[in-house]
Amino acid sequence: MSIVVVGTVAFDSIEAPWGSTERAIGGSATYFSLAASHFTPVKLIAVVGDDFCAEHRAILEDRGVDLEGLVTERGGKTFFWKGRYGEDPNDRENVVTDLNCFEHFSPLLAAPHRSTRWLFLANMDPDIQADILGQVEGEPFVGCDTQTFWIERKLESLRRVIGRVDALFVNDREARELSGRRNLMLAAREILGMGPKVLVLKKGEHGAFLFTKDFRFFAPAYPLSEVLDPTGAGDSFAGGFMGYLASAPAVDEAHLRRAMIYGTITGSFACETFSVERLRGLTDEHISKRFGELVDLVKIELD
Ligand code: AMP
Repeated sequence: MSIVVVGTVAFDSIEAPWGSTERAIGGSATYFSLAASHFTPVKLIAVVGDDFCAEHRAILEDRGVDLEGLVTERGGKTFFWKGRYGEDPNDRENVVTDLNCFEHFSPLLAAPHRSTRWLFLANMDPDIQADILGQVEGEPFVGCDTQTFWIERKLESLRRVIGRVDALFVNDREARELSGRRNLMLAAREILGMGPKVLVLKKGEHGAFLFTKDFRFFAPAYPLSEVLDPTGAGDSFAGGFMGYLASAPAVDEAHLRRAMIYGTITGSFACETFSVERLRGLTDEHISKRFGELVDLVKIELD
């Protein structure tokens, strides 16, 4: 079962006390696609400028990502983002967000994209997310991600989108901003009340919660000895989660729990290098090995 993702394909510059990178490939849809491609075929919809070259496309093509929906705007510039980390890698500042060709992006979905059974609205302008939702046919399973940048600028549009999706992915800071609640359990209840059936609430190195109206689940983070660049961890988490779910026989409690573990694992790989280097070299075997290790870490014997 293939999955359609709409989001940013970007150039990212990162500054951290332990290193930096300039205009490396990034973007919410890029990280999502690389992670999800280990589980299911991925079709990407985004826009780039003509500064996005064949070598950049090859990073996605090498993982079999379908780029029919990747539009190149003649004379346009690719979305650019600069982030800065402090000593604590969970603490990030948005330094520059240049929407560039994303500012007026209004994709017209082709027939195979409109009829998808699985759709992921990666982090981007909620008005574009709403536009995409308006074009899909049938009742696909829709996942959605966002960021403080949009919560602070387009809360009303975002709330309307959240009311129409099946699964929402946020981190602790975003959950607090969205709900106005400091306590995360109360924040989760408030957000579920906005409409999504599934809420994934990520807490960086402290793991991730899943909430539905029927059950809760917690997945610890995979313990990494070195975190070089957490950029894209959230998108890669969503890629592993949604990619696995799209390949699973049902969206039920057992498969949602497993999806949380796969998301945790793909997110952990994203943190190990700047940009997408680690995800590029990833194999299914790497993922299976880490899956076993994480399950072992929390296994207990019951009498
Ligand atoms: P994450 O670390 O999972 O929040 O994702 C970071 C990625 O999202 C980076 O590769 C950025 O290019 C991209 N990004 C940053 N800000 C935005 C934004 N306002 N809208 C869409 N994508 C963004």
